[in-house]
Amino acid sequence: MIYDLSRAERQHRAIATESAPPILIRKLCACGKASTAKQLAQHGKCAACALAAVRDAIMPGDFAKLQHMLGAVQQYPKSKWGWRNYFAASSGQQHEAMQRLVAAGLATTGRTCGDMTYFYATRLGCKAAGLDGAGIKRAMEDDDGC
Ligand SMILES: [Zn+2]
Repeated sequence: MIYDLSRAERQHRAIATESAPPILIRKLCACGKASTAKQLAQHGKCAACALAAVRDAIMPGDFAKLQHMLGAVQQYPKSKWGWRNYFAASSGQQHEAMQRLVAAGLATTGRTCGDMTYFYATRLGCKAAGLDGAGIKRAMEDDDGC
């Protein structure tokens, strides 16, 4: 009985916290979701909104290329995603797609190899492609290509 009471008390407190004004380190994004002050200072929005804004800045086909870049595709289990991190593009549509990813902060331009330019996903790109922490670490360590 005592246990039940304390649990009810905890639940009550959780609800009260939710509707209370945000405490110092937690602030609200424009979407209404709580975010950290650091995240808001750096990006001006919560992580979800930042990713949504990035997705809006690129074309749907670009996102598939980003996923391909990281091996984050259905042929591979999610635990393997990030096993590669490069995309070789010559001029034309692929190159334009890569430059949109770079402009959106999802990829960075690497070395050139003949008429091919290598592009690599950034940490944000890895996150956008759905990689988890281990996958991002894997992708950031990959230094292949060319
Ligand atoms: Zn938000």
